[in-house]
Amino acid sequence: MNKHQVIENFVTLAIQSGGWMEMDRIYLQNRLMDLINESTFDATQVTKEIPPVAMELVEQFIIIAKENGVLPIEAATNEQSQFVAQLMDFLTPPPSVVNAMFSQHYNDEPQVALDYFYTICLQNHQVEVPSVSRTDELTAPYPLNLKTLSTDLPAKVTITNADYPKCSVCMTNEGYSTQRYPIVEHALRFIRLNLLGDSWFFRFAPVSYQKQQAIFLSEEHSVITRREKLSRMIQLVDVFSSYMIGFDEVADSNLIEKHSYLEGANQLFPIESAKNAELMTLTLFPTVTIRSLIWNQSALSLSSSQPLELLNAMDYVVSKWINDYGLEHQIAIALRKNEEVYTGYIIFTDERLTHARQLVKQGFNGQSNWFDACGAYVLSQATNREVVQSLEQEDSICMNRLDNFITTL
Ligand SMILES: [Zn+2]
Repeated sequence: MNKHQVIENFVTLAIQSGGWMEMDRIYLQNRLMDLINESTFDATQVTKEIPPVAMELVEQFIIIAKENGVLPIEAATNEQSQFVAQLMDFLTPPPSVVNAMFSQHYNDEPQVALDYFYTICLQNHQVEVPSVSRTDELTAPYPLNLKTLSTDLPAKVTITNADYPKCSVCMTNEGYSTQRYPIVEHALRFIRLNLLGDSWFFRFAPVSYQKQQAIFLSEEHSVITRREKLSRMIQLVDVFSSYMIGFDEVADSNLIEKHSYLEGANQLFPIESAKNAELMTLTLFPTVTIRSLIWNQSALSLSSSQPLELLNAMDYVVSKWINDYGLEHQIAIALRKNEEVYTGYIIFTDERLTHARQLVKQGFNGQSNWFDACGAYVLSQATNREVVQSLEQEDSICMNRLDNFITTL
């Protein structure tokens, strides 16, 4: 493909992404020529064709940029990713357009809106989906889902705290360019959410280990309480009804971020098919049904059609556990809305999630998140049978505790 055709095809992709119109074609051509230091565009050398995928064209641009001296032949990773980020921005409509399109689609069908935004994020490489294979050698009586990475671990966002943007979660990263993070954010976009009058944001996670993995955060750079997180989870599953959304309760000394956020994935989680070990109601919260689950970690599920009562019950159970036993390992908390019933999961994890070295940390912050506790694991490439066997075992630390604990509720 000659360089004029590369530019032509990339402009076509940019227009197709919805951020530009046919009227912008010459302007875009000139902007791209400037980026790669080309002074002429020969229209006789191009044909109208269906463009290849963006990355194929980006690789061509890198070759041309090196030939033209824009990028050194041995370009450093940062230099090259800055260059690629500038190209990707052409394929990404401005935030106002992405948000308008998202809400227009959302009014018709929420999944169409999610797919619209996800497609943009895949095309501009804001989201990477690692290649995995399913591990089917499980013998445990739990419906665990184990995937093994087929490639090396993808690059992660590093949590940093600075003056601007204040952290790697903050929405001021939208369109920001820096070499401080491994991922340049020119093409990053956030979807604006109004949660009972408060400004919240939604974006997909840079590495999507689970389906349409996403994070949800407030505009304000601050840490919020467990109770507020539970309350936001309820509001969020009302908006994103196909998502399971949650967070991990960790000891304050292990809290590395200064900006709270929730994580979710647009899929069912294995724990949702776990069988009940015991079923009861709580005197304090008469509309809440509580179940202990047959699971590889000590797990409870609480259901109610009354969101406020469910919130109070979940907060009570977690507080009581921490009060009785402390917070040695993280407590995973997740929520699903099915029809009008809200179901919360509370999993008192043991050391396997933090210590199993071959277990991929799926959290945005590079730590393990509640996905593992809910049975959706990802193993690194060099996995062995020992890790799988350890996950299949019943929780050795908390199981007896849980039996005692539920009698005190
Ligand atoms: Zn922040």
